[in-house]
Amino acid sequence: MSKYELLFETDLAVIGGGAAGTLAAISAARKGVKVLLIESQNALGGSRTVMGVDTFYGFFSPGNRTSRVIGGIAYEIVERLFDRNAAFLRPNTFGAGTGVTYDLEMLKILLEEMVIEAGAELLYHSFVPEVLMDENNIDSVLVSNKAGLRKVKADCVIDATGDADVAARAGASLELAGVDELPVQSLSTIFYMGNVDNERAFSLSQAERTKLMVDAEVNGKYKLTRIGGSIHPTPHPGFVHANLTRVRNVNAIDPFALTKAEIEGRHQAHEYAQFLINEHQGFEDAYLAMTASYIGVRETRRLIGEYVLTEEDVVAGRQFEDAICCCAAPIEDHHAGKDVHWKYVEGDGYYQIPYRALLPTEVDNLIVAGRCLSATHEAQASARNSAQCMAMGEAAGVAAMIALSEDVQPRHIELSQLRSALLDQDTLFKPIPREISELKND
Ligand SMILES: Cc1cc2nc3c(=O)[nH]c(=O)nc-3n(C[C@H](O)[C@H](O)[C@H](O)COP(=O)(O)OP(=O)(O)OC[C@H]3O[C@@H](n4cnc5c(N)ncnc54)[C@H](O)[C@@H]3O)c2cc1C
Repeated sequence: MSKYELLFETDLAVIGGGAAGTLAAISAARKGVKVLLIESQNALGGSRTVMGVDTFYGFFSPGNRTSRVIGGIAYEIVERLFDRNAAFLRPNTFGAGTGVTYDLEMLKILLEEMVIEAGAELLYHSFVPEVLMDENNIDSVLVSNKAGLRKVKADCVIDATGDADVAARAGASLELAGVDELPVQSLSTIFYMGNVDNERAFSLSQAERTKLMVDAEVNGKYKLTRIGGSIHPTPHPGFVHANLTRVRNVNAIDPFALTKAEIEGRHQAHEYAQFLINEHQGFEDAYLAMTASYIGVRETRRLIGEYVLTEEDVVAGRQFEDAICCCAAPIEDHHAGKDVHWKYVEGDGYYQIPYRALLPTEVDNLIVAGRCLSATHEAQASARNSAQCMAMGEAAGVAAMIALSEDVQPRHIELSQLRSALLDQDTLFKPIPREISELKND
């Protein structure tokens, strides 16, 4: 008898309501699975909302001839944001390809609506610190919330925590970026400026903005940790997104290191805000409107699963028999220096993410989706884009449905069944290049 009181019993527990987890919950619940989605914060979206990031990359390949590589529920979200006038396309931004910039408050509401419409149960303010195992199976996950420490019993579990928290507790093999000399992507505190004169601010080119930053550094007036970065308009005039800060070499699952990073990131945001107000045209009457409520974490634990996606797979544009979705996003490594390392996909301009990269070898009833997938540091720097994390979640939800209905472990489902379900709902398809001018832009 476990000493923990039962809080809920379900077919599928999805842990983490970020890009991957939300889509996993919607996807499985739409197929009739009883789902509980457990999120430690008070909103869905994870890095897409709570960490303040407001642009989806990964839907479109970079370049003037572009393909949409992600469809399914992920693209339905984009269309529903367009229908509400809450998103617009930013063609070919940086090296990442065309981005979809959205109103993140609208995304919070939309994701909640879609989870509830699909019939999934939602549990906020609940952190999963531990699991209870029955040999190689997760019997229950523990949740810590205002009710105390309770257990949620589930037949199948999807770990969409970004940090592979569940996989770690269940004993899956993992690699932790930022320790033992392993490289780790930097953290960034996203912030927003209010009362900006957009017309003047965005008449400055990226090169001119970079020069301002270099000058500010050289004359020692401001301490800027990154030269470059993104300042861009949002759907609201005068309200501007800034992704400029950089907190380096942090192991973000170390609670004290994460706390220090939050303090350092917020401090940097204030420094950049002063720089913008004093040095950048269009920001003269602006103010720092908000910093994200959680520092942006790009990389912590990565699964070492049945297949480990590599840089070679990404660059060569490798296709897989057990593909779940496509990715055309370049490797975008926010390393410890002042710039970003980019490396582009060759071949047909896209590669595929295999289902095996979501499967731990040691734990039977667990699927891992999102930025903690089984990939090397370099490959994760491409596959972590939000559109791919959404598609991974979507595929994980379908795989869980098949496993539950066939009463087999996720690694033993019929791949043909998974493939045909993913083709049917457009999670997986063959991208077709077209001119960038043909993309919807409203
Ligand atoms: C600063 C920054 C800028 C970025 N910019 C872009 C960009 O412009 N475009 C783009 O496409 N991608 C961008 N990315 C990458 C992309 O946003 C993420 O890689 C992707 O969205 C990750 O999705 P996820 O669902 O795997 O994880 P997350 O979004 O991290 O979601 C994980 C969720 O799980 C919850 N959680 C964690 N642990 C637990 C637990 N133990 N119990 C319960 N809940 C838990 C968290 O609160 C969170 O909601 C950026 C990332 C960062 C950090």
